[in-house]
Order: sequence, then C-alpha cells, then structure tokens
Amino acid sequence: MLFSELTESFQAMGDTRKRLELTEILRKLFQNAGDDLPQLAYLLQGKVLPDYYGVEMGIADKLIIKALSHVSGKSEEEIQEDYTKTGDLGQVAYNVTERKTQKALFSTSMTLDYVYQSLLKISKISGSGSIRVKTDIYTDLILNGTPADAMYITRIVSGKLRLGVSDATILDALALAFTDSEKKEIATTAYNFHPDIGYIADLLRKGKIEDLEKIGPEPMIPMKVMLAERLPDIGDILAKMEGTASLEYKYDGMRAQIHKKEKEVRIFSRSSEETTGQFPDIVKNVLSTFKADSLILDGEAVPFNPETGDLYPFQAVSQRRGRKYHLDEISDDIPIVVFLFDILYKNGEPLQNLPYLKRREILKETFQEDNSFKLSSSLVTSNKDEAEKFIEESISSGCEGIVAKNITDKSIYRAGSRGWLWIKYKRDYEANLGDSLDLVVIGAFSGHGRRKGTYGALLMASYNNETGIYQSVCKLGTGFTDDVLFNLPKMFSEYTVKEKPANVQSGLIPDIWIIPNFVMEIVGSEITLSPIHSTAFGLIKEKAGLAIRFPRFTGKWRNDKRPDDATTVNEIINMYKNQKKNIGNLLE
Ligand code: ATP
Repeated sequence: MLFSELTESFQAMGDTRKRLELTEILRKLFQNAGDDLPQLAYLLQGKVLPDYYGVEMGIADKLIIKALSHVSGKSEEEIQEDYTKTGDLGQVAYNVTERKTQKALFSTSMTLDYVYQSLLKISKISGSGSIRVKTDIYTDLILNGTPADAMYITRIVSGKLRLGVSDATILDALALAFTDSEKKEIATTAYNFHPDIGYIADLLRKGKIEDLEKIGPEPMIPMKVMLAERLPDIGDILAKMEGTASLEYKYDGMRAQIHKKEKEVRIFSRSSEETTGQFPDIVKNVLSTFKADSLILDGEAVPFNPETGDLYPFQAVSQRRGRKYHLDEISDDIPIVVFLFDILYKNGEPLQNLPYLKRREILKETFQEDNSFKLSSSLVTSNKDEAEKFIEESISSGCEGIVAKNITDKSIYRAGSRGWLWIKYKRDYEANLGDSLDLVVIGAFSGHGRRKGTYGALLMASYNNETGIYQSVCKLGTGFTDDVLFNLPKMFSEYTVKEKPANVQSGLIPDIWIIPNFVMEIVGSEITLSPIHSTAFGLIKEKAGLAIRFPRFTGKWRNDKRPDDATTVNEIINMYKNQKKNIGNLLE
C-alpha cells in the first residue's frame, strides 16, 4: 500500500465528524491494506507500537524546526514564527515541502511499510548520535513524499496526529471490514485485555475468531481496567446488585495494576500508562511479598502513615508536573500501601471469568498482609443499615465512599468497561450530584479586571464515547487559586487554537479554543437542562442539552485520565436521571 493512500484517508477523515462516514473510510482503507494492516492500524493511533512496548517516537519540536530550516533554507527563527502563527508543525512542513516545486516530479512514491519501518527506527534508536540519525530519517521521509505526506508524518513524529478517531471506531471498522458487526464485541473484549491494535487487526483479517476469543489477561500486557457505575442511593445499589453485594472502601489513591513474571515487575495506571518507575518501593515489596511466579493484581496505591495508619490523598504529598506524579521526593518519608481488590492472573491461570468472591479468595491466599499490601476492607451484606454504617466507617478512615461489587455468578472482571457489576457511591459533600465529574477543557474566555492576563472562565466538556466528540457542559470560573489561575495560559499555550477543533461541539463560542487534553475534577450543585450546552442535546428534551450548575474546580487535575477517559455524556444523562432532588429542570 502507498503511504499516500493513508494520507488521502487522513484528509477525508478531517473533513467529516460523522462516525458512520469515518467508519466507512476506515473500512475501505483496511480492506485495501493487505499485509500492511497492522502497521496501518498503529499509524492511525499515531503510534508505531502499543505504549507498553516503551518505544516513544516523539522527536522534539526543536529538532523538527531545525530539520525544516535545513530543508527550506529558511532560518530556524522564521520556521518558529510560522509555527507560532499556524500552531501546527505539520502545516509548516506542508508549506516548506510544497515550495520545493520540482521535487514531486522526481520523488518516488513511498510505501506505507517504508514509512512505518522508518518511524520504527526513529522510535527505537537511542544513545549517542541518535538525534542525528532520527533527524536524517525524518528529513528523508518528508522529502520523499507529497506535501500532505510530510504534514501527517510531521504530526506523527511530534506526537500530535490527533485525528480524533477513537479505538472503538477503529475496532468497529475492522470488524466491518473482515467479519460482521456481531464479532465487534469479541474483538473489543480481546482488545481490552490485549490493547495491541495491530495484533487484533491481524487476527480479524485472518478470520481467527477463535484465537480472539481466547485472549485474556497476560502478564506484562496492561489490560484496560474495570470501572464502576454510580448511584446516589445505597438502597438502589443493593437492589441493582440483586439484594446482596460486597461493599468495599473506595480508597482515594492511584489505581495500580501490578504485573509480576518471575523477577520482573511492572505497574500500570488507570489509563495503562506505565508507572513502574514512579513506584520503586512497590516493585521491591512485590518481590518480597508475593511468591507466585506470575501474577496480575488490581488495587489502589495510597500514601499512608505507618505509625498512625492515616491515609493521605496523593495531591497532598506529591507535586504534579506535566502529566506525571513525581513521587520520588516523597516515597522515603511517606510510604505507599497498596489496597488490593482483585486478581486476574496467577501462575499461568487467567482468572477473569471466575465470580468475584472466588477471585477474592484466591487473592487472599496469595499473600500475607503487611504495611505494603493489604486487602481492601470489605463487607458482604444485604442490609441497608449495615451498609450505611460501613460507609460511615469508610469515610472516617479517609476514604471517598464505597465501591459495591456484584457477587453473583455473572460477576466476571470486565476489562475496559464501566458497568453495573461495580457501583460507586461517594458521600458527596456539598453537591447533590452524588459524585464529582472529570471534564475536559475545550476553550477559555479572556479575563477582565482582577483576572486580566488570564482567563475569566473555562469552557468544559464531557466526552461522547459513541461519536468521539467533546460536548460542552458548563463554563467553569470558580475553585482556582491565583497560582493555578495565572499559570493557565502558559499551561494551555501548546494546545491553544483559533479554530474550533473538529472533535469539539459547543453552543458557546469561547475566545480561544483548546485542543482536548486537560482533565479537571469538578463538583456542581446539580445537572439542569440548558439551551446552550451540547452535552445530550435533544436527547432528554428537544432543543436542550444538559449543563452542570454552579461548577467548581476541586483543585484536582486528573492527570491519570486521558481526555477520552473523562466523564461521558451517558454518565451525565444517568446522573441527571438519578439526581436526588430533581428540581432543576427549568431551562437556564
Ligand atoms: P473517580 O473519579 O471516582 O476516581 P474513575 O472514573 O477514576 O472515578 P471509577 O470507576 O468511576 O473510576 O471509580 C473507581 C475507581 O476507584 C477505580 O478506578 C479505583 O482507582 C478506585 N478504587 C478505590 N478503591 C477501590 C475498590 N475497593 N475497588 C475498586 N476501585 C477502587
């Protein structure tokens, strides 16, 4: 396959936001890909391999600017100026290569495999001299293709492809291309346990449905985590659980999926990012506490005081910079305990299809509790009063509430799914909502008066996981410290654009748009119908969407969530329906 076929599809995808059209473009592309299918699937994700391989393509912007300066004969300052103007190095690469008018006449057409192998080389090379080699390979690529090829290659190598095509859409199109849409669920389950899109694509193309069905948890491959639904009433929760549930403390830490294979330990976050390097103590403790040869454990890592047993929230003890928690400064003084609540694999046996209490029994037999690993506190009950008492206990122990877990025979571990097998309940606080929301910044309004030089409010969105679109749900102006507030323009600068990004929808037009990247935790007083916001527009009531009333930033950046992990439109619809006091149904 020629790389230009992919480029044309990228362009066609940019021209539509309709999921059906996107799927159709992808389906055709997949059917034409032949043996190049795995490579093609990775490139659509803007990658050369799944993240857990630990290869990173990222060529720094500085180097790309240098290369473009070299190719164009313009100075680096001029290229930087073009970049600042367009906000897109891909566009700059397009302009630079377009000007080399003669080039197209001589250039050979690049195959997709050639581009893929070159990008793979860029990702794998390290050590002295590697920067030079990376830049040379990149320059060769942009000079050998069309200007549009150069644009997309530049976006890929700088980690900014941002097609806005979700994994779900890619899986949909793969299923349509090679089997029928009913097999999509099999492919999705397989992908959730083994998130390697090239591998799944290849099995689908070869019709190996039985192999797909066999895919389950595998040590060292981060599976997608299981998530909880939410309900604000404990009686309703028990009813949903068919009367009896295992209630557990909901610890307020960081999700830790711990893998062990002989002497190797790897830890993954809620969004499958590798966090092994941030938790050297946990790695050491896993090796001393767990004797099993191979394991996958699921739990919550929480800083605590071993003298008093007090638990601390992460943000109180760590400084966050960029997208990562920097825990190295704190781990000596404040140790971390992992509260384990699930086991998915032990000594060669996948356990995801066993009922929950059976898995918990196996987990219990697997280790001796100490100050580094504990079982999550739990209570199996069908009694509402007992449940209320347990929630009180959990909150007074510094937890956020509880997670209720289904214990019937159907209580398997559903990787990557938010469903009713787990239901969370948070004692929320001042809000009627029963839970905080994690919303994505999509725009900002200029500040005036005391807020001159920064923003007066941010435009926030929920995520529509069916269409891959971020839909506005409120304007957020409270809950910021001055430090945070005045740092926002700098923080957002790389993501600020003049035009509305294609994967964003809003009835309000902000002064600047922000590419979906930042996830903030907010609380609000209630969810109301709104004629201006796009979340759930027309779904509850004609010509109205849903909005969060009196939203306030809790101070917590959800750096552990990617924008597509944010609160979804469907969750907001459910929260709206479950509001304790459904009084806000008047148009704003
Ligand atoms: P939140 O913002 O409430 O943390 P979330 O979207 O990150 O939500 P949810 O599935 O809604 O994730 O809530 C479950 C989260 O709670 C898990 O991801 C996990 O990190 C944490 N947690 C704490 N204690 C438990 C427990 N006993 N069982 C399951 N999850 C737990």
